[in-house]
Amino acid sequence: MLTRSALEIAQEQLLEAAQLAGASPEIVQLLAEPQRVLEVQFPVKMDNGTTKFFKGFRVHHNYVLGPIQGGTRFHPEETLEDIKALSLWMSIKNAVNQLPAGGGKGGIKCNPSELSKGEKERLCRAYVRAIAPMLGAMKDFPGADIGTDIETQSWMLDEWEQMHGMRHEPAAFSGKGLLLGGSAGRPSATGLGVSLAVIETCAKLGKNLAGLEVAVQGFGKVGSWAASLLSRKGAKIVGVSDIGGFIHNANGLDPDALLKYTQEHNSVDGFPGGKSGAKEQIFSCPCDVLIPAAVQSAISEDNASDIKAKIIVEGANGPITPNAEKLLNENGVVVVPDILANGGGTVIAYLERVQGTYNYYWTEKEVHIQYEKMFKDIYNQLYSLSSQKKISMRMAAWSIAISRIEEGVRLRGWI
Ligand code: NAD
Repeated sequence: MLTRSALEIAQEQLLEAAQLAGASPEIVQLLAEPQRVLEVQFPVKMDNGTTKFFKGFRVHHNYVLGPIQGGTRFHPEETLEDIKALSLWMSIKNAVNQLPAGGGKGGIKCNPSELSKGEKERLCRAYVRAIAPMLGAMKDFPGADIGTDIETQSWMLDEWEQMHGMRHEPAAFSGKGLLLGGSAGRPSATGLGVSLAVIETCAKLGKNLAGLEVAVQGFGKVGSWAASLLSRKGAKIVGVSDIGGFIHNANGLDPDALLKYTQEHNSVDGFPGGKSGAKEQIFSCPCDVLIPAAVQSAISEDNASDIKAKIIVEGANGPITPNAEKLLNENGVVVVPDILANGGGTVIAYLERVQGTYNYYWTEKEVHIQYEKMFKDIYNQLYSLSSQKKISMRMAAWSIAISRIEEGVRLRGWI
């Protein structure tokens, strides 16, 4: 079977949604490709005295609604084509979340687990120098993604500020340390959004949170926070999987104890509070809600029919293949799409940009209250459109985003 690239899938979603939104052909042409692309090759001195040349990318997909916002990935298989697809998704995600921000993405083809701390720091600094023409607080605001974290973001900000005579510019990078202008509430942001998506969907479908059975694939930053927050609201976490295995307990797992165990043992496998199994068992686990929060294309035609949940909330980016989604729709499963459900990271990155611009910082509670309000308003809009037009929430989200971008394009006089 011919597998489609991420960019082809993203462009297909664009075409389908543009039709539903009645978008003009010029908008489809504009959004199908990024507005600006930079590919760089730059040297990094390795610990053994040799020099290695790394390939890096920064893609500005669309500037219409504001400065570019999107993360930087460090991955051995990184390609420009994947970064272009991810940047398109970021334009849509930022637009649907009503942020005054365009979409972008960046990456370095590298294996961060093979780099020493010093090599990683020199890599981050060299990357910032190489892509400098793309950067700046009111131009492009790169955040963290796969393989990048508070440390890499803090080094990148420091390099940028050193390049400009230590002019303090906390709104130039997101996901940095709190003392450098990072936002309170960022670590739990994406998991919080996922938990809110579960809560709102249950409210709409008249399902009680107390005792709601939830299964989570992936127990990293997103999955563990979502599980913990939902459990605090009365839901029962019955199954969790990660790269090392699966753990099940029909009476409920304790997510906080599971996280502690995972930090000590590198996997949920063997957790004494449940029964261990193969990681694939997560898909057939009896539950009301499934949260795929691990990798893209985790749910395919091969396992979609095994899924017992009637609600799927996408914590990961693109965890359901288009063919699997058709099967799930036929089976009456409600899918809350990634661009809404895991938007907490980008929304709080935006709140970080606002705080950095004013050099005035909010508490975690203040940040989360703002995000929760934004989330509920957007969720309700999407849900109404999807019910009214009898379309999936994903297509409702895409068509709202495309219409917002089209309005911006018209205001700018581009068409
Ligand atoms: P993470 O690296 O912290 O955790 C990933 C988890 O998935 C780990 O528990 C890992 O063991 C598990 N995993 C990996 N491969 C697996 C497999 N084949 N089967 C089962 N489990 C597997 O990553 P994260 O930050 O939690 O991100 C998870 C997903 O959410 C990614 O798709 C990411 O792009 C997306 N996402 C993350 C954020 C964020 O703020 N962290 C924001 C938006 C989207």
